[in-house]
Amino acid sequence: MIEDPRARPSRGPQNVVVVGAGFTGLAAARDLARRGLRPTVLEAEPDPGGLAGSFRVGDGRLERFYHHWFTSDRHLMDLVAELGLSHQLITRPVGTGLYYANALFRLSSPLDVLTFSALSLPGRVRLGMLPLIALATRRWQDLDDIAASAWLRRACGEEVYRVVWEPLLRGKFGVHADTVSAAWFWSKLRLRGASRGRAGHEQLVYFRGGFAALADAIVRDIEAKGGRVVTGAPVTALAARDGRVTGVTAGGAHYPADAVIITTPLPEAAGLLSGLAPDDYIKRLRRIRYLANRCIILELDRSLSNLYWINVNDPEFPFVGVIEHTNFARAADYGGRHIVYLSRYCTQDDPFLSLSPQDAAAYTTGHLRRMFPSFDPGMILAVHSWQTRSAQPIVETGYAKLVPSHETPLAGVFLATMAQVYPEDRGTNYAIRDGYKVAGLVVSDLAAV
Ligand SMILES: Cc1cc2nc3c(=O)[nH]c(=O)nc-3n(C[C@H](O)[C@H](O)[C@H](O)COP(=O)(O)OP(=O)(O)OC[C@H]3O[C@@H](n4cnc5c(N)ncnc54)[C@H](O)[C@@H]3O)c2cc1C
Repeated sequence: MIEDPRARPSRGPQNVVVVGAGFTGLAAARDLARRGLRPTVLEAEPDPGGLAGSFRVGDGRLERFYHHWFTSDRHLMDLVAELGLSHQLITRPVGTGLYYANALFRLSSPLDVLTFSALSLPGRVRLGMLPLIALATRRWQDLDDIAASAWLRRACGEEVYRVVWEPLLRGKFGVHADTVSAAWFWSKLRLRGASRGRAGHEQLVYFRGGFAALADAIVRDIEAKGGRVVTGAPVTALAARDGRVTGVTAGGAHYPADAVIITTPLPEAAGLLSGLAPDDYIKRLRRIRYLANRCIILELDRSLSNLYWINVNDPEFPFVGVIEHTNFARAADYGGRHIVYLSRYCTQDDPFLSLSPQDAAAYTTGHLRRMFPSFDPGMILAVHSWQTRSAQPIVETGYAKLVPSHETPLAGVFLATMAQVYPEDRGTNYAIRDGYKVAGLVVSDLAAV
């Protein structure tokens, strides 16, 4: 899988280069390879997987940023089935909760919502009704220009908005919270509603061995079908002649290309296309802004609670989510260590991103003790920290009009990036869907050349 990026590929009749080996790029390359083309995926990092990539903990591989699937993620399920790996999927009900006013509430089932004492009884009923309101709303296009804050206030009332939704929107989007589109929020509610079992408990899905094991399996499949994945090969330039792409430069080597699929964040795509596409198009790509994310990951000698996912509705707490991964996957898979992610979204220039992992963890411990009185810093066996500048596109009102199409002004170059997933929330399931879609566009384009 890891090849010398300087090795010159032999020029076949139709070369397709895919920039990025995240799930979009891997899915696109797999689809191209199964249609008989020989794609070359060029990935800047040493391993495939992108944002769903991993690192080693004990004997296991763990995602740098918490990852799971919903039972309704059918593009993902189909891909896993085609690879003959469905037996590797783990589907379980998970415990979810909410931390509000110094108390931890379990909110995993409709019954939990009915007994959620932070809200009045009418408020609980209105909260419980929201998934039904979302189900009854058919056209997301009607919500695109409406702010989620206004839509939620109307749907659930001021009390529910203030206690439940406003802190979550602020925790994730910060100063942009009031601009988030209702279409995105609606889609998230529908997706979560569709991932529930009979008693209304949320069910989530994970891959034995981690998302990295799935990424590796896709790479093997691409290679078995005649494509290849070159890691440690950052693409630095595109070449074009007569308005059509002719190749890319990566790691000092030139790769001829009849078509190129770019799956990087949009600012990087804009950098690659700059000078080859009109300025107003480049400006348009740069118009979409992203939030950064930093995850502090604690390896603990004990569990913190029996909840997998805790939404933090407390503006004083420096993380918006506390995710105890080993309340879903088994601690035994990580040498008996209990894994907790602390997730914080922030602007790309937030000083929190430059704290050392130790300082970031130290900053956390007082808050964790407040949330879990039995927590003691002596429980921490190791601390890890991962961050990315492009974690979440800011899905503001009117976002549908900002999303660029997969085709670009430079013939033969196609874009399939996380920021084009809308109104759905970005996720590997949609990365796979869009990877296939753009592969289909490339095949049609090449047939017409
Ligand atoms: C905190 C967090 C939590 C998440 N949780 C979930 C979850 O629970 N479930 C889920 O399904 N999804 C989740 N996601 C989203 C999911 O990770 C993404 O939607 C998905 O991985 C996007 O895949 P992608 O291939 O489009 O982009 P990426 O994964 O970003 O892949 C792009 C690739 O391009 C490479 N690249 C960039 N520039 C260059 C260059 N110049 N040359 C070569 N390569 C380059 C990058 O290294 C990267 O590997 C989460 C994301 C974050 C940030």
